[in-house]
Amino acid sequence: MRFPLKLTAKIARYIVGKKIRRVPKFAMVLQLEPLHTCNLTCTGCGRIREYSTSLKDMVPIEQCLAAAQECDAPMVSICGGEPLIYPKIEELVAGLRDQGRIIYICTNAMFMRKKMREYMAAHWSPAMEEPLRQLLAGQLVTEKEAEQIRHGDEKARAKLTIKPTAWMYWNVHVDGLEYTHDLIVEREGVFKECVAAIEMAKILGYQVATNTTVYKETDPQELEDMFKYLSSLGVDGHTISPGYDYDAAKKDMVKRLGKDPKAFFLTRELTREKFKDVERWGQLFTIFGTPGYLEFLAGHRELACSAWAIPTYNVRGWKAPCYVMTDSHYQTYSDMVAKVDWDRFGVDETGCGRDPRCENCMMHSGFEPSAALSSSPRDTWINFKYNFGARPAPYPASAELSQKAFNGATIGKGHLAEAKAAVRDGMSGAKSAFARNGNDLPNLEVAGGGSCGSGNGAADLSQRDQLLARLQETKK
Ligand code: SF4
Repeated sequence: MRFPLKLTAKIARYIVGKKIRRVPKFAMVLQLEPLHTCNLTCTGCGRIREYSTSLKDMVPIEQCLAAAQECDAPMVSICGGEPLIYPKIEELVAGLRDQGRIIYICTNAMFMRKKMREYMAAHWSPAMEEPLRQLLAGQLVTEKEAEQIRHGDEKARAKLTIKPTAWMYWNVHVDGLEYTHDLIVEREGVFKECVAAIEMAKILGYQVATNTTVYKETDPQELEDMFKYLSSLGVDGHTISPGYDYDAAKKDMVKRLGKDPKAFFLTRELTREKFKDVERWGQLFTIFGTPGYLEFLAGHRELACSAWAIPTYNVRGWKAPCYVMTDSHYQTYSDMVAKVDWDRFGVDETGCGRDPRCENCMMHSGFEPSAALSSSPRDTWINFKYNFGARPAPYPASAELSQKAFNGATIGKGHLAEAKAAVRDGMSGAKSAFARNGNDLPNLEVAGGGSCGSGNGAADLSQRDQLLARLQETKK
């Protein structure tokens, strides 16, 4: 099975219960953003821009738990910002587990090893010597850290920590192999840390998933290599979604300057091109979700938007109508479901956006639930077959695959330095390779995408696009 049986059974029971009670709209996954603070500044991240005035605000833990209780989604994805910065993350995970929920911690992995060392110190016993030996052999902990784990003081032993359980996944953000991922997160060494954290987690018995956002410039072959590599590390499953962010500035440029939308957005046509192999990937790798959504991404069917099924709760409340667009915030999930005119969103039968902002969206958070909740006999059958069928075997590890994965900073391609040089040579007006200050550059060409969604400024993406173009030239 792709997903553990007890978790699948819980979700199935929940859906059947809602259908029997004829509840028309309900939450499947709560995207809980307890804070928007992050230790990275990923290119194109809408959250640090849209919520720039509330970056220091946090949702009190009681409020997080009450939100989860109120919407009652069986799965909670704790995201942000970087959730491992949230001071009460351990209490939050424990509280959600007490409510019986399946938890995903969506992290950039930079603090994962620290959290797992804390777990080992708090639960140290001689039985942990063997995994600790493996961690030392793999250079995933230092000798000094191993000693601290073995001889934790009273405080370390009493600490509430994040334990391995079948009900929780670390969900590591990986947008490509080393070169691409480090470029997107704007820091060298992050991909390497992701891999180290994944390896440590697997040795300790945690479940690990990865999440990948596909951008206009993402190379599908690199994605396939990335899945092979992650599979060879023992990753339990992957989610994948086209990046999409509506931005008024971009739409305005289409209107005013008559530019081709393809220069701005990952359009539906372009998304389908990028995802043409996604159904094959679904057979080769443990991609979580529904085959119906994969068919949709590949352009083999249409789906309606069900943004109400994957709602977002953050420092301002329930964000409506969806993860990327913010028309308003509501105080309760039920209020949001009742007051938003959902028929105004998504696309109609002809593929036209009911709201112009929806026209090119094929995001996971809008469309995956539509396939999962479909009551057509065909969808029920393919969902059953996909999820209860044999789990794809892990891809064999090899030195060649590893070499392919580490194609950036670790082999001396200091691409951020390369990027800075490229910018210094040619991008007048940019203060730095990844400046976010909205410098207006001439001849703007803006790419779609954005791992966290909405609110990207056109100038930000323009810089990124120009930078990527220059890096392509440098690579030739
Ligand atoms: S189609 Fe996309 S942008 Fe529009 S409401 Fe649904 S999820 Fe949001």
